[in-house]
Amino acid sequence: MSDPRRSIPSVDSLLASTEFGPLLQRYPRSRVVEAARGAIGEVRALVERGQTGADVASPSQYARDAERSLAASDVPSLRRVINGTGVVLHTNLGRAPLAAAAVDAMVAAARDYTNLEYDLDAGARGSRYEHCASLLCELTGAEGALAVNNAAGALVLAVNTLARDAGVVVSRGELVEIGGGFRIPEILERSGARLVEVGSTNRTRLRDYEDALSDGSVRAILKVHRSNFRITGFTEEASLAELAGLAARHGVPLVHDLGSGLMIEASEVGLTVEPRPHDSLAAGADLVTFSADKLLGGPQAGILLGRAALIVAMRQNPLCRALRVDKVTLAGLEATLRLYRDPARARAEIPTLRMLAASEPELTERAERLASSLSAEGVRCRVVEAASAVGGGTFPEVELPSRAVEISGPSATELARALRDGDPPVIGRILDDRLVLDLRTVLPGQEVDLVRRVREAVAGTAPS
Ligand SMILES: *Cc1c(COP(=O)(O)O)cnc(C)c1O
Repeated sequence: MSDPRRSIPSVDSLLASTEFGPLLQRYPRSRVVEAARGAIGEVRALVERGQTGADVASPSQYARDAERSLAASDVPSLRRVINGTGVVLHTNLGRAPLAAAAVDAMVAAARDYTNLEYDLDAGARGSRYEHCASLLCELTGAEGALAVNNAAGALVLAVNTLARDAGVVVSRGELVEIGGGFRIPEILERSGARLVEVGSTNRTRLRDYEDALSDGSVRAILKVHRSNFRITGFTEEASLAELAGLAARHGVPLVHDLGSGLMIEASEVGLTVEPRPHDSLAAGADLVTFSADKLLGGPQAGILLGRAALIVAMRQNPLCRALRVDKVTLAGLEATLRLYRDPARARAEIPTLRMLAASEPELTERAERLASSLSAEGVRCRVVEAASAVGGGTFPEVELPSRAVEISGPSATELARALRDGDPPVIGRILDDRLVLDLRTVLPGQEVDLVRRVREAVAGTAPS
């Protein structure tokens, strides 16, 4: 018997075949050559393991393989997904989806030239940092404002500007890791400051800060909002107002790392207390830092608010250039902030706020509608109670009562895998070995895709 490897076509003969013609029309020749090589390699491996049944000489299976690999490598790496986890600010899923007004502004800024650093009045060079500044001041009562790449960057800039080669006092109860390896002590040191820890994990008094300030090398007091965990029991901490008084007496600025940036009353979106930037400034913080893509519901950015002189100093720090935001982000941020001029409009149009505020009856109705569409497609499912989370390292203990659709299937993990595999990928949650899709984080208009994807996933999951 002749060696079947001899029958495997060459790359040149495949490229000359009629089967490869359509591929050469659709893709650059170099990519088709690569794909043909890959297909040949696979057949060769099968032949060598004695596993080939098909006619290895025919170009058709090579063309099919090549087409599959070309199509697979055309799928973008960054894709939109449907979030069925119920975690509103899911950091792995890109945190806040944006309001339509923000998306429109971002598309326009991306497509056209803009006055990013051009003063239209003067007909001369302007500053990108002007664009959101006055709106931020108007909304929060701050004297000055600056937007940079993200909140971690905002803190780096603040510490580096105020306390390079000097001390920053922080309570031991606030030396937190926010997530993704963002640890306050390391950030302070990398920013060029010396960390002056005071108090203990559970109790830090005003007196502790006061003692630390007496040595004269301390240039800032930092208070970190403990957003992602709680200390309960035998605890004590100095309030922001007390620290503000102390900071003023010693002539050092008080920096408040607020994290989540909720711009409206927490109760308006069904949450308990969460300090807003305005509250923090009113309590006497000289500088407040927070994220634009957490509870604010905007694009990724970090906001600094506070005394005009401090904001000027930060704009003049060379690090500011390394942390700057691009025109697309500024456009999205400005459009999002503009919605806050009317809080009712912000609640209605900013997806993060809308999702947080969604009521149980509304979620029940949406879950029932999804379940009945799925049942009509032959998918076995039922509506169940669920608990959504705020996410983004905020409100660790808060459970928002929600409704989910539980999909019946032989294996929840296989179903979850199948849901992630298609387009758009659907990310669900597994609860007690059941796959559930929480309606709180499914955006309006995604239901049609969701029904199709669940039907596909259920059909593709092998019955046990
Ligand atoms: C999330 C958070 C940060 C980091 O914000 P990014 O925008 O992710 O850089 C900093 N501080 C606190 C308290 C946070 O909650």
